[in-house]
This record gives sequence, C-alpha cells and structure tokens, in this order.
Amino acid sequence: MILTISALTAVASICAGGLVVYARTQHLIETRNLMDHSQTILTALQTTAQRIERIDDTMQLYQAAGDPDRLQSARSTAATTDVSMLRLQELVQDNPSQTRHTHELTKAVQSLVKELNDTATRTVPERSLLECRNIVNIMQEEERRLFRQRSDESQNSLSRSLLSGAGYSSFSMLVVGLLFAFLFRDALNQRSFEAKLSEANATLEETVEKLRQRAAEEAMLTNAHEEIQLCVSAKQAYPSILRHLEMLLPGSSGAILTINNSRRMVEIMATWNHPEQLADGFELDACCGLRAGRTRWRKPGVSEVHCKHFTGNPPENYLCLPMAAYGETLGFIYIHCPDQTVAAIAQQRMTLLHDMVELASISIASLNLRAKLENQSIRDPLTGLFNRHFMEIALEREMHRVMRRNSSLALFMIDVDHFKNFNDTFGHEAGDAILRDVADSFRQVIRSEDIVCRYGGEEFIMILPEITQEIALERAEIIRKRVAGIRVHYRGELLRSISVSIGVGMFPGVATNGNDLIRTADLALYRAKAMGRDQVQLAEPIESQVPSTAS
Ligand code: GH3
Ligand code: MG
Ligand code: MG
Repeated sequence: MILTISALTAVASICAGGLVVYARTQHLIETRNLMDHSQTILTALQTTAQRIERIDDTMQLYQAAGDPDRLQSARSTAATTDVSMLRLQELVQDNPSQTRHTHELTKAVQSLVKELNDTATRTVPERSLLECRNIVNIMQEEERRLFRQRSDESQNSLSRSLLSGAGYSSFSMLVVGLLFAFLFRDALNQRSFEAKLSEANATLEETVEKLRQRAAEEAMLTNAHEEIQLCVSAKQAYPSILRHLEMLLPGSSGAILTINNSRRMVEIMATWNHPEQLADGFELDACCGLRAGRTRWRKPGVSEVHCKHFTGNPPENYLCLPMAAYGETLGFIYIHCPDQTVAAIAQQRMTLLHDMVELASISIASLNLRAKLENQSIRDPLTGLFNRHFMEIALEREMHRVMRRNSSLALFMIDVDHFKNFNDTFGHEAGDAILRDVADSFRQVIRSEDIVCRYGGEEFIMILPEITQEIALERAEIIRKRVAGIRVHYRGELLRSISVSIGVGMFPGVATNGNDLIRTADLALYRAKAMGRDQVQLAEPIESQVPSTAS
C-alpha cells in the first residue's frame, strides 16, 4: 500500500516537475524569439538610418558638384527606403508605440521622397532628413530598450529554467532513491516473510500429518469399540481385540491373559502370531507388570528383569499391559516385539496402545458383568441350577418342540426327604451344603439337553426332552440312587445319608399344558412320599387325580 502510494506520488511529482521544466523552456524560447525579433527590427532601422545618411551624403555631393546622377541615386535610395517602410510596419505591428513611430517615419520618408522628386530641388532636404533621423533614433532607442529588457528576461528565464531543471532532477533522484529504498526494504521483508511462510508451511504439514495419523488412530479405536460392542461374551470379544492390536503393531505377537475364577492363576484366553515361550497357567506374581499394576516394558539396557511366565528362554523385548476395570484387575495383554522396528512403532503408538488396552479392559469387564447378571437372572444362587422362572419358559419351549417332532418329554418333580430334620439337627448352613451336593449330583447325571432347576426350597424340577416313559423311569431311578449315595460332610463331620422322592410326569400323556404336567408330577411325588419316600412314582392322567398340595 505504502509502496503504491509512494510510486504514485513519484510519478505525479515527476510529471509536475516535467511540466514546470517544459513551461520554463517554452518561456525561454519565446523570449529568445522576441529578442531575435527586436534584433531584426534594429537591423531594419540600422539599414534605414544608413540609407538616410547615404541620401544626405549623396545630396551633399550633388549640391557641390551638380551631378544629376547623384540626385538620381538619392531619389532611388529614398524610394527604396519608402518601400522598406512596409516591411518595418510589418515587423513592428505587435508594438503600438513603434507602429505609431513607423507611421510617422513613413510620412517623413514620403515627404523626403516628394522633396527629392521635386524638379526644383537643388539643395539638401535638411528638415526632412532630420525628422527621419530623429524618428529612426527614437525607434532605435526604444527597440534597444526592448532588446535589453528581453535579454534580461531571457537571462532570468534561463536561470530559472536551469534552477528548476536542477531542482526537478534532484527531486526526481530523491523520489527514485526513496522508491528504491522502499523496494529494497520490501524485498528484504518479502524474503523474511517467505522464510517465515515456509517455516509455517512445514509446521502446518507436520500438524496435518499428526492430525491425519491421530484421525486414523481414532478411527481404528472407534472401529474396535463398535466391533467389540457387537460381542455378547468376552470369549467372542477376544479375537476382535487381538485383530486390532495386531493392526496397531504389525509384526508383533502376543496374547490376552486373564485371572481365573479362583483368582490364583493367570490363563491364556487368546493369542496372535503364536507368542513364543509364553506359559499358559501361572501365578499372578509371575508377571512384573501385573504385580506392579502398570505397563512394564522389558527391553535390553532399560529394564533387564524378566517376568516368570515363560516356558523357555524369555524373549528380549516384550510388554505386559495390565487390564483393570471397575477397580478389578482382569489380567494383562502380553506383546512381544521381535525387532527394533516393531519396538519403535510400539513406542510411537504407546498412547493409542494404552487406549486400546483400556477399551479391552472395560469391554471384557462389562461382558463378564453382563454374563454374571444374565446368569443371576436365570440361575439360583445357592445351587447354580436354573431358577423357577427360567424353568417355566424352558418347559413351554420344550413342550412345543416335542409336539412339533411328535416326540415326548418327561418332567421329574424331586423333593428331598425329611429335609426339615437336617435343618433342625445340623443347622441351616448344613442344609444349604446338602442342597448344593444334591444339585451337583443332578448335574453329573443329566444329558446336555436336559434342564434342571430349583423349583423352591428343597424341591427340584428336571425336564428331559426326547425321552420315552421307560427310559424316563430308569433315569429317575438313577437319580434317586445317586442322591442316596451322597456322603455329605459338614465341618469335618459326616452327616447321615439323604434320599429323594421323585414324581414322573410324561408329556404328551398325563397333561396338555405345562401347569398340569407339573401338577400331575407333584401328585405322583405326593404319592411317593405317602408310600414311604425314597422312591419313584409315575404320574397318572389329570382326570383321575384328586387335587393335592405339593409336599
Ligand atoms: P418331606 O419328606 O415330607 O418333604 O419333609 P420335609 O421336611 O423335607 O418337608 P417340609 O416341607 O416340611 O420342610 C421343608 C424344609 O426345607 C423347610 C425349610 O426350612 C427347608 N428349606 C427350604 N428352603 C431352604 C433353603 O434354602 N435352605 C435350607 N437349609 N433349608 C430350606
Ligand atoms: Mg422335603
Ligand atoms: Mg418339600
């Protein structure tokens, strides 16, 4: 902006200066022309004066000698002078005073010509010559004054012109100098600006690259988060976590290890790229990272101590990143860096690695918690068997299934005999221990498709799909015998043996819906109790039953 204003000012100044110099030069030329003009007039007047003198001289000679040639010569000169008056009039027409004098001179010359042409003339026309001479003198005086005046003016004009020229040149040089200084300063500024700009560009590129990298990392984390959220169990989430860890650290190998239910051992849950020498199943103390509760990077020259969870020679460079969430340590992620390149990537992406471990920890803990909650909602906490609510849903589902397949199922209603006595004799806790042992014995004899639940108190229901009445009765006997064989120990004391009574209801057969099936089995159980307990009774169709209460 300043540069533009300066340049415009410079151009305007140079133009104005040029105009001044031009005007001065024009004026000088005009003055010179006027001087030349005065010089021409003076020359003409000089010629006129010489002619007058010649006429005087010639007439003097004529008067003395009477030579008619002399007279003729004087007449001729006078005539020439008269003619020259026209030229003089022309020359002085710009000057009124000189014009007036020229007219007077013309008249005087004409009267001189007339006198000379007079045939009677023999003498010198003194008066006319004098008048002519006087007028020419006056005119010469005036023209010389004018000449001097114009000469002075010309001199002044020349000085002014020279002065303004010099001033103008100096000013122009000053302006050009200033412009050059501005340009020079701008060039310097430009150079420093360019250096700063390239520095800023480099920083910008670096920032953009970092942001791009960060965005890619964020995207990877988001992707991992979304994928893990789709999982319904920790077991399902492990491969997804591993895949993202492998993507994060290409070339590495590793494993997810968790603390087992007893919280005494650490076990491998999943691995990627077969981590060498990593032991499966070791005590918590074996891992330095797990013991310290923070990331541990074992690398030569930095941290030399080895963890003890290896089967052979431990690797040189590995990381143990503990997983913890909701205040509980879940296990750790083990990463082996086989070379410096992988170690460098791990170093560079440590923040993201920690984010990933945190995501894995929270996800695994949440999924475990969900599984626990789901378990709690369908299982009886004392025995670990399904609860009554789950049994009702399962019974409905299994009855539909056997109907579709034209098959049959059996429902066992099982009740522990004289259980109250155990409670009364050995206490409630001993009773609980018996219930747990009875439940374990059920688990040992059922097939994978059978469903066993705690119906309430010391009563159990077992649903056995795809089974005939004959086999059902056989299986009920097996269960009865298995329970009879249980030896319950409580506080080091062997309690007396226990028995169960079982009512067996078949579907289809004795009932058309789940409630009736349970009722008929319950009635059969009641019968078993009535007939002396520790036995199996087959239910009869609902019509032939009398209403009864469960034992
Ligand atoms: P029966 O041979 O006729 O079945 O006699 P019983 O004593 O087993 O039957 P009863 O219905 O008279 O008593 C059941 C007892 O089971 C009563 C209750 O104190 C006990 N009981 C119910 N639920 C639990 C439990 O969760 N833990 C313990 N320890 N006892 C329970
Ligand atoms: Mg009982
Ligand atoms: Mg009972």
